Amino acid sequence: MNGVTVEVDGTGVAVPEGSSLLTAVRAAGVELPALCSDDRLSPAGSCRTCLVRVGGRVAAACVTPASPGMRVDTVGEEVARLRRDAVEVIVSALPPRALADGSPGELAHVCRAMGIGPEAARGAGGRGGDESHPYVHLDRDLCIACGRCVRMCSEVQGTFALTLVGRGGDTVVAPGTGGPWAESDCVACGGCVDTCPTGAISQPGPARGLTSAFHPQEARTRTTCGYCGVGCALDVIAHDGEVTAVLPARDGPVNRGHACVKGRFSHGFRTSPERLTRPLLRRDGVLEPVGWDEALAHVARGLRAAVDAGGPDSVAAISSARATNEENYLVQKFMRVVVGTNNVDNCSRLCHSPSAAGLTASFGLSGGTDSFDDVARSDCLLVVGANPVEAHPVVGARLLERVLHGAGLIVADPRAVGLALHADVHLRPRPGTNVALFHGLAHVLLAEGLTDEAFLRERATGLPELTELLVDYTPDRVTDITGVPAADLVAAARLYGRAERPAIVYGLGVTEHLHGTDGVRSLANLAILRGAVGTDRGHGVNPLRGQNNVQGASDMGALPDLLPGYGKVADPAVRARAEAVWGGPVPARPGLRIPDMFAAARAGDLRALWVIGEDVRATDPDTTRVAEALDACPLVVCNELFLSETARHADVVLPVASWLEKDGTFVNFDRRFQRVRPAVPPPGEARTDFDTVRAVAAAMGVDLRCPRPADALAECAALVPAFAGLSHGRLDREGAVPWPCPDPGRPGEAKLYTERFATPDGRAHLAAAPYLPPGERPDDAYPLVLVTGRRWAHYNSGSMTRRSGNLALDPVDLLDLHPDDAGRYGVRDGERVTVESRHGRARLVARVGDRTPPGQVFCSFHFPASGVNRLTSDVADTVTSCPEYKVTAVRVTPS
Ligand code: SF4
Repeated sequence: MNGVTVEVDGTGVAVPEGSSLLTAVRAAGVELPALCSDDRLSPAGSCRTCLVRVGGRVAAACVTPASPGMRVDTVGEEVARLRRDAVEVIVSALPPRALADGSPGELAHVCRAMGIGPEAARGAGGRGGDESHPYVHLDRDLCIACGRCVRMCSEVQGTFALTLVGRGGDTVVAPGTGGPWAESDCVACGGCVDTCPTGAISQPGPARGLTSAFHPQEARTRTTCGYCGVGCALDVIAHDGEVTAVLPARDGPVNRGHACVKGRFSHGFRTSPERLTRPLLRRDGVLEPVGWDEALAHVARGLRAAVDAGGPDSVAAISSARATNEENYLVQKFMRVVVGTNNVDNCSRLCHSPSAAGLTASFGLSGGTDSFDDVARSDCLLVVGANPVEAHPVVGARLLERVLHGAGLIVADPRAVGLALHADVHLRPRPGTNVALFHGLAHVLLAEGLTDEAFLRERATGLPELTELLVDYTPDRVTDITGVPAADLVAAARLYGRAERPAIVYGLGVTEHLHGTDGVRSLANLAILRGAVGTDRGHGVNPLRGQNNVQGASDMGALPDLLPGYGKVADPAVRARAEAVWGGPVPARPGLRIPDMFAAARAGDLRALWVIGEDVRATDPDTTRVAEALDACPLVVCNELFLSETARHADVVLPVASWLEKDGTFVNFDRRFQRVRPAVPPPGEARTDFDTVRAVAAAMGVDLRCPRPADALAECAALVPAFAGLSHGRLDREGAVPWPCPDPGRPGEAKLYTERFATPDGRAHLAAAPYLPPGERPDDAYPLVLVTGRRWAHYNSGSMTRRSGNLALDPVDLLDLHPDDAGRYGVRDGERVTVESRHGRARLVARVGDRTPPGQVFCSFHFPASGVNRLTSDVADTVTSCPEYKVTAVRVTPS
């Protein structure tokens, strides 16, 4: 990067080109007040507290660009007095409590540094506040109208929920909608709380006024968010064993000082009275508290009895995408070494297993191809089947920021998701027709010469077969299949095809289909045709992983056919390597996938199932059949935070630690290993999943070794060449390291395939899979298509978010339907409705609007009591068994 050297108080300092004088002054170690400035925001230059003398004039440092050779004076008596005057003028309008002893926040810090005491604050106050929101309170008397909150909301979060109202000294921040904060467009990202220099906007409770820049360093624990796969770095503030605040880390590699309502605020679940604190054992049909020794002995006896009666393959485990890498590593090792079966799977089966299969087939490795930093520099984003604004909010905010700075945007999603409002082209295919849509785009790329012929010749294979297939996917035919107007299809293809550095980002709207793997592969075709993967001419194909560690759970080998690092269990050489490290035989036969585990249980062939941190009775499709399977299984063991639907019916329930209470690592959606650290202890007798697995193994007479999580990652690194350069020590020093990382002395590979693809022939593989219709289709009896997904305030089955203030933000599962359908079926907005499919029935509250097109309805699945997954079918991806959550035929009637 080109630099600029300026002189600050006689000392030369180099800063990147484009920097402000404020950056240069701070780089020189000089502390200046800058109350309207935040380095995450565009400069405003309105508060005049960062005045310096430069080139014979007085200037606000935050809005003055640093030019070569500039001489900056910060210490002169005149500028020091001007700065103090500016601060005193601001302070004079505030009530004395703004600077009371111990006031946190930036203004109080500045005043302490300048020797300005509470007596300088002479404002009368009385402007009132707004405490309607559970997480964001406004004290108008403390507002200095610096506008940082407004810019944070628009520039970083992209929500545009705040504005400044009033005139002159009465100017104050307010929700743009005019009413109470709780009824505004605020999505509670906490950005305004974090940037507010005075505490005018703050979170209630003991952390009132704390921001990421101004909080006690010694009281924080750096960890990684345990909700979604974005992997935000967070600083947890704790006092007396309780979490008082979670602050976004300014140096977080993905979030860069931002977060969302879940990671930032939704930690109240930790202290819920419903939290499990003792093991439970079912006796005479009732779950009763017992000691750990008794619970562990019961589990060990039950697993042994199952093996004795039906062999090792009569035992299975569902590991957890919420658990750490080290815990997943230990679970799969336990199943393979202690039980002797490959019956271990994780919930990526239900979400991104088609990504793993599809990306591996197309490119060679089971992960996104590029770093998110690169994606966020793209000049054209193709966002498919994803709603990152709600489901991955920090990614959604950064993508929107890129679009607002000029990148092209194509959104392909049946619904009017948040990003679609800003799209150049919004493609709305009928659910289940993705493959045809992607082939239509590819057809236009080929027809209009928007392909990279040299790349296709030198680095790809499969072009003749794909070209032949694409003959049938003319825009008009694709319109017939998908409902997308041909002109929109052509416009989207041209936008993607003519961009200099296009990037594809996609979500579960691509994978959760009968032909989800074909969807991933035909989407990957577009990047290959453009030469936009493994080159500097684009930023590849990048799945937005759902759960915090769904990438890592699979990386660690919690899969029935793959060992850690994705070596095939059926391959003798791969097994031999694991056997050498583990010191015991590894079974050769691939194990059962999750749906097959349930089928085996129903058939009486599965005698013990250990479910770790998944509420399969609520989140898996066709839950009526899942319940039948669990009821038929003689031993169900459940590791849980709460008495979930699954735990309620288990034989043994083991209380476990949450993400705020454990040690280890997660892998986020762009393959970065990041540390997870315990900020507080688990409640009562709860233990980590890591300790639980080791303890069950010990009760069965086996030492799994790896006494600490760091040892588990070290053992995994010894087993998997792609992880050989990773360790807790390195992550503690470096923060985040992407895999592949074969060498402890070299950085991991953030961008893949720059030299060759990881396929056996080193080439990217185009796929020529024809479009095939979805498994379910509407008919006269079930005329609507149901799509399920997430809402911004909740997470999956809601077990954590429903037990926090988020419940007040979103108290019920809503069914979105179009006004035409509402009229047709006699449904009114806000009314309770019954939704029926061929598999079951759910009760929801209707929300009528045009986000969902006619003929389709959408709902979340955050409230198990609403029974949404009783509706979904057991139709699944033909390659990976990922359920077809995105296409269920239903009918809706008023309740
Ligand atoms: Fe956590 Fe995801 Fe929100 Fe970041 S975007 S704070 S990782 S839930």
